[in-house]
Amino acid sequence: MTELGQDKNGKAEDAKNRADEMRKELTFSFKNLWNPENEKEMKAIMDFCEDYKVALDEGKTEREFVDYSVELLEKNGFKQFDPNSSLKLGDRVYEAVHGKALIAAVIGSGDPLEGFNLVGAHIDSPRIDLKTNPIYEAADMTLMKTHYYGGIKKYHWVAQPLAIHGVVILKNGETVNLRIGEDPDDPVFTITDLLPHLGADQMQKKAYEVVTGEELNVLIGGIPFPGGEDIKERFKLGILNLLYEKYGFNERDLVTAEIEVVPAAKARCVGFDRAFVGGYGQDDRVCGYTALRALIDLEQPLKRTALVILYDKEETGSGGITGARSQLFPSIQKRMVRSILGREPSAIELQDNIERSTMLSSDVAVAYDPTFPSVSDPLNHSYAGRGIAFCKYTGRGGKGGTSDANAEYFNEVTRLLDDADIPWQAGELGKVDQGGGGTVAIYQADLGISVIDCGVAVLSMHSCFEIASKIDIYMTYIAYKAFFEKMRS
Ligand code: MN
Ligand code: MN
Repeated sequence: MTELGQDKNGKAEDAKNRADEMRKELTFSFKNLWNPENEKEMKAIMDFCEDYKVALDEGKTEREFVDYSVELLEKNGFKQFDPNSSLKLGDRVYEAVHGKALIAAVIGSGDPLEGFNLVGAHIDSPRIDLKTNPIYEAADMTLMKTHYYGGIKKYHWVAQPLAIHGVVILKNGETVNLRIGEDPDDPVFTITDLLPHLGADQMQKKAYEVVTGEELNVLIGGIPFPGGEDIKERFKLGILNLLYEKYGFNERDLVTAEIEVVPAAKARCVGFDRAFVGGYGQDDRVCGYTALRALIDLEQPLKRTALVILYDKEETGSGGITGARSQLFPSIQKRMVRSILGREPSAIELQDNIERSTMLSSDVAVAYDPTFPSVSDPLNHSYAGRGIAFCKYTGRGGKGGTSDANAEYFNEVTRLLDDADIPWQAGELGKVDQGGGGTVAIYQADLGISVIDCGVAVLSMHSCFEIASKIDIYMTYIAYKAFFEKMRS
């Protein structure tokens, strides 16, 4: 090689080095977080997700998840909040809201009028509810009429083993808890589908009407009440008789009951390497569980009081007495302020607490699915394995119905994570005009709380078997913990 050639090569090398340097300095991308060489972290992730799978199996409805959470909280020193008693640094309290929502708190040393740190998630999931008059017989079988809850693809729910969960309140006020189809010895239930041999017309239909709402009828029996064919509605009577003998309720009691049909399958590890958790109801119990665990594991003493709020009814628009739009939640927060102050705060002081509070609205994000790339903008999408996913804004079309976090607040939260060396990612819900959605953030923002959406990115969202990467679950827990400990502290 000539000297000239060497010089040229040297210059090219310099340019390349400089470009590399500038690229490092100026560009940015979110990284996959798995590090199989870090044995300690790998074990922590896998162990955490084993506990999480138990929570998914124990809490398949909002009521059950509240019961499970209360048990977990009490085991870890939390006591029921008594609004007439005082609260002091380090106190751990909770309040269940009509059995279907929950607030839990760890009290900090700071002035409550300077605000709290909140993480809010929802613990209701798409499912199939019973109608108020559900039981009927047809063709020598007993079935139940249903009304689906939340955004489901109805065809997911046919030809599946299903479980029945819920409460029936008897005439004497006693509550009967149902949970049938979870124990290996339990029977399960199912919604039948048409065989392909006779499915020619069905297969021509649009996916949303392949199975219609009125076709989601649950098969619950086929043995008649004894006495022969002359007995009126003997198949229905056979089941009513069995229900009365076993659980003590009759058809009238079902009218006021709350019964939910959910997949009978358990949460499982997914993949040869067990990288994912698969299971029903991860939207949004994955954020509910990680938030609770973060609260339980907080380093003491805290400066700002930490609150986890678990809402119901997010999947139907956050209305109702246990939904995020209910005044019940800020009311409990205000009572906590009073108990910490030890005096009756003024209206404006209570508002000070609300407006100076900071919140993560923690709900699942959608993970990029390489099988369905056409609905996504790969540059602005969350990915499985890249940590807690932030969504600055939600909504549909021109951000309709959005809660759009302020740049200042988004930056404050992500800087906190950067300073604590906790990775995160950001994305939005698919391509512009492809669809959209939203969650509880907007209702807290309406109150005056600074809030941003974030959570675990999942695949197959709203299906009977949602998928989340274990490292995302673990890193979301780590992020919530840091938020509680460090936000404005
Ligand atoms: Mn959700
Ligand atoms: Mn959802």
